[in-house]
Amino acid sequence: MTRTQPTKRPTDAEYLEDEPVELPPELLNLPWIDVHNHAHTLSWADRERYALSGCRSMVMVASGYHWTPYKPVRAEDVRFLWDDAVNRRAAIERDHFFEAKLGLGVHTGVRIEDPDALLDAMDGYCELDAVVAVGETGVTPSQHVSAWDLDEQRAVVEAQMELAADHDLPVILHTPNRTTDDGRSYRPGVGIPGYEKNTGLGREPVIEAENAALEAVKIDVEAASDAGLAEEQVVASHADPNNIEYIMERTDCYASFTIGHSWLVGVTAADVADAIDEYGPDRIMVDTDCANVLRTDPFALKRAIFELYRLGIDEDAIRQVVLENPRDVFDFDA
Ligand SMILES: [Zn+2]
Repeated sequence: MTRTQPTKRPTDAEYLEDEPVELPPELLNLPWIDVHNHAHTLSWADRERYALSGCRSMVMVASGYHWTPYKPVRAEDVRFLWDDAVNRRAAIERDHFFEAKLGLGVHTGVRIEDPDALLDAMDGYCELDAVVAVGETGVTPSQHVSAWDLDEQRAVVEAQMELAADHDLPVILHTPNRTTDDGRSYRPGVGIPGYEKNTGLGREPVIEAENAALEAVKIDVEAASDAGLAEEQVVASHADPNNIEYIMERTDCYASFTIGHSWLVGVTAADVADAIDEYGPDRIMVDTDCANVLRTDPFALKRAIFELYRLGIDEDAIRQVVLENPRDVFDFDA
């Protein structure tokens, strides 16, 4: 063997014949936008992680029952969540350099006693420059603690869509993920480790369908139509293999894959890559849904940028899904 390396004995380099892979260093500095998170509930250090890894803009969503102490939830409880986010947003933006905007909505994960009071108030919030989206919302197959009749849920979702249409705002749709059963369950009362929610308090489903998770999305899309909201103004978050075909082939909605808690829902950058291969990048986004109630990763989107490239997605498509699509739909400066 003729030695080509000056090392004392042969190293791997001696045997490597392939040209080294050319990786695009531009991806190190590609800005990205997270269109669905709850960063205002995270720690300061987590928000700094967003900034350190190149987050350019984000939509901080205030709508979920996780952060209200009482169930059933009252309108005033959700108003508090909205006001808390409105109050803290500017300081978050000032401290971390990224553009932090708001999504305010009424989530249907738990029944709300007097939703009309919220819907009446929402009009004023939609006027705020800081509010760039309505949501997250969308009918939910089963609630926490207190079930909510499907027709009532749908009416609340549709009313929010009407407000969004009136104010020319997009809606962040919460689409339910289809849970995969791995055959074992935890001891009663133990819950899901990594998710600080009393899962035993889940109520019986209010959507009777074999594929209730997909049925929920269809009901939401119908509600958007009834509300006069263009499908291009609907961003279906938590897209997954169960709903992506419907969203891409039967609607003009955007699909946003949530990858900040892959351990829970099983959705990863590979699903994003599959969708780009199948449907192109024009209506695809990626979000983290990072929140303080579950194990989430503020670096997830940055990691996905590298992973998408490794999986064969080209730089232009990556830039489109992590930066350009969200910028255009949510009207960010980036
Ligand atoms: Zn969320």
